[in-house]
Amino acid sequence: MCSFKKWFNLYIIFHVLASTPIFSLSDHSSNQLSTNFLEIAKKPDVFDWMVKIRRKIHENPELRYEEFETSKLIREELDKLGIPYKHPVAVTGVIGFIGTGGSPFVAVRADMDALPIQEMVEWEHKSKVPGKMHGCGHDAHLTMLLGAAKILKQYEKEIQGTVVLVFQPAEEGGAGAKKIIDSGALDNVTAIFGLHVVPELRVGEVASRSGPVLAGSGIFEAKISGKGGHAAIPQHSIDPLLAASNVIISLQHLVSREADPLEPQVVTVSKFQGGAAFNVIPDYVTIGGTFRAFSGETLQHLKQRIEQVIIGQAAVQRCNASVNFFDEEKPLYPPTVNHGELHKLFLDVAGNLIGINNVIIDESPSMGSEDFAFYQEVIPGYYFMLGVKSSPEPNQSLHSPYLKINENGLPYGASLHASLAANYLIKYQHDVAKVAGKYHDKL
Ligand SMILES: [Zn+2]
Ligand SMILES: [Zn+2]
Repeated sequence: MCSFKKWFNLYIIFHVLASTPIFSLSDHSSNQLSTNFLEIAKKPDVFDWMVKIRRKIHENPELRYEEFETSKLIREELDKLGIPYKHPVAVTGVIGFIGTGGSPFVAVRADMDALPIQEMVEWEHKSKVPGKMHGCGHDAHLTMLLGAAKILKQYEKEIQGTVVLVFQPAEEGGAGAKKIIDSGALDNVTAIFGLHVVPELRVGEVASRSGPVLAGSGIFEAKISGKGGHAAIPQHSIDPLLAASNVIISLQHLVSREADPLEPQVVTVSKFQGGAAFNVIPDYVTIGGTFRAFSGETLQHLKQRIEQVIIGQAAVQRCNASVNFFDEEKPLYPPTVNHGELHKLFLDVAGNLIGINNVIIDESPSMGSEDFAFYQEVIPGYYFMLGVKSSPEPNQSLHSPYLKINENGLPYGASLHASLAANYLIKYQHDVAKVAGKYHDKL
């Protein structure tokens, strides 16, 4: 990712000078504005409205690229708020606009999809769809972005620039973010913010860091083929189970023997399928898993070595192997890397809004991954964690069928989204306005 300075220089090259709209709020009043946003988000007309929306979405979870009803609900709420939008973008995605409709453009993103798990929490608003659940909290993400939209709409006349609301499908393995980028819908956006709820942090707490926050990831599946036969006469078969076992052991050496111990990497084989009888050697075995790293080059290197090791090690046992990385359906997720300038803005905004003691900085990076990284490949971006702990009950992790979201966290996410967008426009209005030209003034 290029630096802000370099990026602005590029911007200057492509844009002619235009009239400079002056944002009406000073730095001092921007701090006031942030505080008001949390107060506004906690008021019943916003809070109760958000809770209602979140429960409705929670009851009707939809999997990646099938978020048709969710998309409709979002559009209905935007219609009621008088917010214009583009639809469809990336199948079910919706992109809303608040402000002047001109530059600068700052985006705030929420993901829309649920997971194929059966909810085990017994409550009034339990998922009504068997085998599907908002087990990653994306129902809360959508709600908070709508909450931010409702708040910002009230301040629209003061926004000298445009807040772009990105309701994105298919975060869970579908790379919906990549589809949004490929659609060109965010071409002139100069910064993007996103968050994830976490049940480990309490309500009112946030955590993030500058630089890498989440790993990049890829998946693989290999078919190792031998020759099936009677288990009692092994000399007439070529045993793919033994070959696959050796392949799995050899794959473990990629991280333990080839990787720099100071550079975090993971190769996990999480799937091993083959054989169906006590006395039959099967024809083939399928194995699969994931690999993670914090740089694109390392991911590419791991991908190459995984293929070599599987094919080479299978050949040692006289087996053939083919490896599928699902490049089309599930492309490599890049690492999620936070922009340094936006980190400073985040500390400022979150500090003013919720108190600096509630902002956990330099949180350790995680080997989890997130398709928000696709935005950050082309737009300076910032991603942070928001507390939704439902104490005093024991925490359940994301993707657990027992996950519970504390809805008291909703106003924090909504107001942080709104404040980050508004304060970004205040801070960068001057720089971007100076170089904004008629050719790139609209999205
Ligand atoms: Zn998830
Ligand atoms: Zn998620």
